[in-house]
Amino acid sequence: MAASDPTGGRPVDPSRGALRPLGLAEARITAGFWADRQRVISEGSLDHARAWMDKVGWTANFTIGAATGPAEHRGREFADSEVYKLIEAMSWETGRRADPARKREIDELVALVGGAQEADGYLNTAYGRAGQAPRWSDLQWGHELYCAGHLMQAAVADTRVHGPGPLLDIAVKAADHICEVFGRDGSTGICGHPEIEPALVELYRVTGERRYLDQAALFVERRGHQSLPPHQFGWSYFSDDTPVRAATVLRGHAVRALYLACGVVDVAVETGDDELLAAVAAQFDRTWARRTYLTGGMGSRHMDEAFSDDFVLPSDRAYSESCASVAAVMLAWRLLLATGEARYADVIERLLYNVVATAIEDDGRAFFYAHSLHQRTPTRALPDDEEQLGFGGGPRAPWFEVSCCLPNVSRLLASLSSYLAAGDDEGLRIMQYADASVDTRLADGRRVALETSTAYPADGDVTIRITATDGGEWPLRLRVPAWAHGATITVDGVTKEAAAGDVVTVRRAFAAGDEVRLHLPMAPRITTPDPRIDAVRGCVAVERGPVVYCAESPVADPLGDLDLLRVDPGRAPEDAGDGVEVWGGLATAADAAWPYAGPAGDNPPLGLIRLLPYHRWARRGPATMRVWLPTVQSPRARSSDG
Ligand SMILES: [Zn+2]
Repeated sequence: MAASDPTGGRPVDPSRGALRPLGLAEARITAGFWADRQRVISEGSLDHARAWMDKVGWTANFTIGAATGPAEHRGREFADSEVYKLIEAMSWETGRRADPARKREIDELVALVGGAQEADGYLNTAYGRAGQAPRWSDLQWGHELYCAGHLMQAAVADTRVHGPGPLLDIAVKAADHICEVFGRDGSTGICGHPEIEPALVELYRVTGERRYLDQAALFVERRGHQSLPPHQFGWSYFSDDTPVRAATVLRGHAVRALYLACGVVDVAVETGDDELLAAVAAQFDRTWARRTYLTGGMGSRHMDEAFSDDFVLPSDRAYSESCASVAAVMLAWRLLLATGEARYADVIERLLYNVVATAIEDDGRAFFYAHSLHQRTPTRALPDDEEQLGFGGGPRAPWFEVSCCLPNVSRLLASLSSYLAAGDDEGLRIMQYADASVDTRLADGRRVALETSTAYPADGDVTIRITATDGGEWPLRLRVPAWAHGATITVDGVTKEAAAGDVVTVRRAFAAGDEVRLHLPMAPRITTPDPRIDAVRGCVAVERGPVVYCAESPVADPLGDLDLLRVDPGRAPEDAGDGVEVWGGLATAADAAWPYAGPAGDNPPLGLIRLLPYHRWARRGPATMRVWLPTVQSPRARSSDG
């Protein structure tokens, strides 16, 4: 395998595909919306997560049996994986911004992890020691392969930022052990929670060791044959109901299904299996069309953190785990790189602005696990030293018994600049708009450097200025989001229309100082749901650019009872500072002994109702909130009520 630069700082680094990703050194976010979110992680979340992992014993688990270590494992069986995700996030963070103190912390954590590895390469703190269940004795729920996968991902990040080191040695030993135990002549088991699949492929990309790719392909092909024990959630929970090639949609536990799909794309790309790639792309496309919230969130069932049937998307019971949004970004990114289809960049944008940006508190020290689209009772204020057991229907919490989401969102945000742009066979594509600088080489080796400046998403004007080029003609391609009807592009004072939902190409011999201006119309718009989504029929939502808006009623500054909010979809919403205003009002309702007897209420008097970006909700203390807004009754509907 011709591995590209193993230290290139790319979270995903396929050897073939329509697009070539850039590393953290080639694309940097310099200011604006995402720089602020990266600062929140850098200054708050990483230290917060580390402190909690120390407090609840997850780091100390790696010293069980040592003279100063604890006697027993603490936390859930997958706690090791959170430490690995934190190491991964810290690694990308030091790739984004050199930080010797953080690098020392990584080294210290790596030494801790390495101390727990057995001589044969096995590494998991919850299994195999005296008093613990034997190794590999509970593949369905044990998460051993899942944890190993996150270990490998951490090693990939550390290697791509700092170069090969002790963590790569640890991950390689663990991977070799797994290939021996689960190889073609070994156990035919699969892990209840996919993750090992994409991890093994990425480790193959770093090391060039083909057996890791072969093992990932084996795990992919073994799934779907109902080999895990029967469970009340069904085999679909584990994506073990239907072989990967035969499935038509993502189903079951959302994060499991999405991580598996990432591994399937990776295997398909590296083995040149276009049929497998087409199968997983079709599964994702159908999931996006039928099983996804307006925010891009996935998973509408709390009981099993799972996808439900098509069009079952209740706002108030939305699960939409933060981790599912991270996993969906990972999957859409892989599909974008493989196919070059710009619509996958639209998917990523929607997920980033509406779930990822919503997840973490402004100080970085609390986070959402689930993302409701309709909070009926006010969120509560939580003590900052208390671990939360439940995951949904509450405010951002400092820590949960299962705290996958904070390190997961952190690793994505720390590496986010890699998702802004990519090389194609001739030139460069810009796919996400932010204040950023790009300095890279085209496929033919010529250097190009540029800067993008914008107030996006507050404003839709983006200026791209070429800062260096080796000369000669090459195409600069810009994504025009599917919502951006009326977009224009200006080069040398000439303005042309740019079709929404496509890429617009500027091909020329660029010189340093050349500017390309993209204008994306940002007027707020009314969005209506597919009529098959029963839960929000009769409602509309408001979007502006890539951002979904919501009505919020903070306890401290109430808007009113949001159950009674009615808006007029016939009147266009308008910009209002950092919010949007719609025409609407609060209807009245009389309490009755039985809620199904009364006549439909009259339309309320209408005035301007202020909405705020969904990603800003629950930042003003306890509040109720809704994204989907019931509409006023039309005169015809009222008259038919009699
Ligand atoms: Zn999570």
